[in-house]
Amino acid sequence: GSVFAHLVQAPEDPILGVTVAYNKDPSPIKLNLGVGAYRTEEGKPLVLNVVRKAEQQLINDRSRIKEYLPIVGLVEFNKLSAKLILGDDSPAIRENRVTTVECLSGTGSLRVGGEFLAKHYHQKTIYITQPTWGNHPKIFTLAGLTVKTYRYYDPSTRGLNFQGLLEDLGAAPPGSIVLLHACAHNPTGVDPTIQQWEQIRKLMRSKGLMPFFDSAYQGFASGSLDTDAKPIRMFVADGGECLVAQSYAKNMGLYGERVGALSIVCKSADVAGKVESQLKLVIRPMYSSPPIHGASIVAVILRDKNLFHEWTLELKAMADRIISMRKQLFEALRARGTPGDWTHIIKQIGMFTFTGLNPAQVSFMTKEYHIYMTSDGRISMAGLSSKTVPHLADAIHAVVT
Ligand code: PMP
Repeated sequence: GSVFAHLVQAPEDPILGVTVAYNKDPSPIKLNLGVGAYRTEEGKPLVLNVVRKAEQQLINDRSRIKEYLPIVGLVEFNKLSAKLILGDDSPAIRENRVTTVECLSGTGSLRVGGEFLAKHYHQKTIYITQPTWGNHPKIFTLAGLTVKTYRYYDPSTRGLNFQGLLEDLGAAPPGSIVLLHACAHNPTGVDPTIQQWEQIRKLMRSKGLMPFFDSAYQGFASGSLDTDAKPIRMFVADGGECLVAQSYAKNMGLYGERVGALSIVCKSADVAGKVESQLKLVIRPMYSSPPIHGASIVAVILRDKNLFHEWTLELKAMADRIISMRKQLFEALRARGTPGDWTHIIKQIGMFTFTGLNPAQVSFMTKEYHIYMTSDGRISMAGLSSKTVPHLADAIHAVVT
């Protein structure tokens, strides 16, 4: 018999498993709102026009080679990524206090940052929001950190539990690491206001808590790259240290290219240099060096004024379509007289709406309406279209009445 015969069948990933179930459903009206990927009004995946142009440039350039990148990845991409998230005029960049390494999208950036902290930072506990993206606890546990949660979401208001958040961070041991969603919190779609961010910043700095930003949706929440980066820039402006994991999956639609970056903002150029040397020791035995294609696409777009501008327009169009889906779904429920307060659909921000539907209601909607979503009631607004809003509104109406 096989030496692996004793294995038990592992469960599907709770998020990716939704798509597995969806793919098996033969119904012509089926709707997948599980996956966090942008879809057009026609329900199709979207490759941005600027990405096509950048790829064409790369193909036409016969001098391009496919040698290994350095351990830290494509250096120009790293510089441009730091600027994109910290701002063109960031003093930290000017003072060479930022070290940036290309990683395998947001997930890889979080993992490399987590392992670096587990090895070299004095506190091994990371606080994550309750609830959060399902992969967070697994990434940080495997990186060697201890994961604890802080209160974030208030089910009664479907908004932020700001008091609970302040209490929990206030009670965290000094120096603890705190994971912060830079914008478009996943899964709740609930972000602190700028005033609340300022209070969080003051509290965290006064207790020496280490901010680790997860920026998976820059530009996707508000439609503006700068607005969505504001909370991070507030923390960098005070001169303190922090980590930032960036993903280009959503905002450039480069999901499968696995392109992202980890930046560590340090107090001095000297420290930043040492940090980079240690990041290389984390990366080398993990995957040696990152892939070249996706980072090259990003670099072509970020370095060229015209392409960059074109990107911001395409990004804004995606964000606007999502916002419009929120309005349409909200109006459709109002038109049906669906009981309950559904204003959170238009108040929440980013790719997801945290509907407040429970697992039993979700399962009813899947069985009776062929609508797929994660069991926590999270729906991807990017998977909706004007054509499918009525079907979803019918299902929600049926399940709550
Ligand atoms: N963080 C959050 C909060 C996310 O929602 C995602 C994508 N679902 C990621 C990180 C990382 O995604 P990726 O590895 O595809 O960049």
